[in-house]
Amino acid sequence: MPERFPVSLQQKIEDRLRYYEDLGIRLFYTDRGPGLVGHEPVASAPSPTHVIEEIALPKPTPKPAPLKPTPVAAYPPLVVAPTGPSLFETMDKVKDDTLLNIREDLGDCTRCKLHKGRNKIVFGDGNPKAQLVFVGEGPGADEDAQGLPFVGRAGKLLTQMIEAMGLQRSDVYICNVVKCRPPENRAPEPEEVAACSPFLMRQIDSIQPKVIVCLGATAAKTILNTTRGISQFRGEWLEWRGHKLMATYHPAYLLRNPPAKADVWKDLQKVMAELGLQLPRKSKS
Ligand code: SF4
Repeated sequence: MPERFPVSLQQKIEDRLRYYEDLGIRLFYTDRGPGLVGHEPVASAPSPTHVIEEIALPKPTPKPAPLKPTPVAAYPPLVVAPTGPSLFETMDKVKDDTLLNIREDLGDCTRCKLHKGRNKIVFGDGNPKAQLVFVGEGPGADEDAQGLPFVGRAGKLLTQMIEAMGLQRSDVYICNVVKCRPPENRAPEPEEVAACSPFLMRQIDSIQPKVIVCLGATAAKTILNTTRGISQFRGEWLEWRGHKLMATYHPAYLLRNPPAKADVWKDLQKVMAELGLQLPRKSKS
């Protein structure tokens, strides 16, 4: 210990160093700042009031090796429908498919969110070997309550149209693109159509009708897989998977726009001609 410190201070420093030694602290750095008031800076002697301790810090835990990035699939995983067969499975069954099988496969369907608000699934109704199939958009309130298609006001108009063709409802088959009622009677959303339409396709393939009549834009766009407006092809014969297909206006539209009934009647007369039904005689003027 240098002699330059007063004895009392030396003693204090020694005591303090011993104290630090007892604590296991042996390394000290001299203060590089300004000296204590009244003292010259000392290069080599530790200053008891400015000791900076090198505390034995715990050794840093070695960093874990960086994780290899998990390979990311190029496409999102296939979401499997919670119940029932996939579309490809349904396609395999087409040859021997029956409406009963299709209804069983549909089950108590929860494949899209429309199931949350439905009362009854509206599968379809009519002759399983019909020559003529009508396809609408989706059930309304009356259909949802009864589980039958086209039984409300629009349905009554459709029934009148069928009878005007010289047929009964039991002669034809009637169904919709989606089998549960969309809330507020809105149009079904694309994912709802995508979930439900495989069953419609199976129904058509099972029935094998000669003619399909699409009632409204949703049915026509779904079956034809087109985004074209219905007015661009309404009343024209189209070919779809070996069936003759005609798109016409939905009866609900006719209730709002009665003059369009004349267009629909012209379309239905083309259907009658195709089915070999007797056309109404033209009145002599
Ligand atoms: S609309 Fe069709 S797919 Fe959606 S829950 Fe109803 S039956 Fe299932």
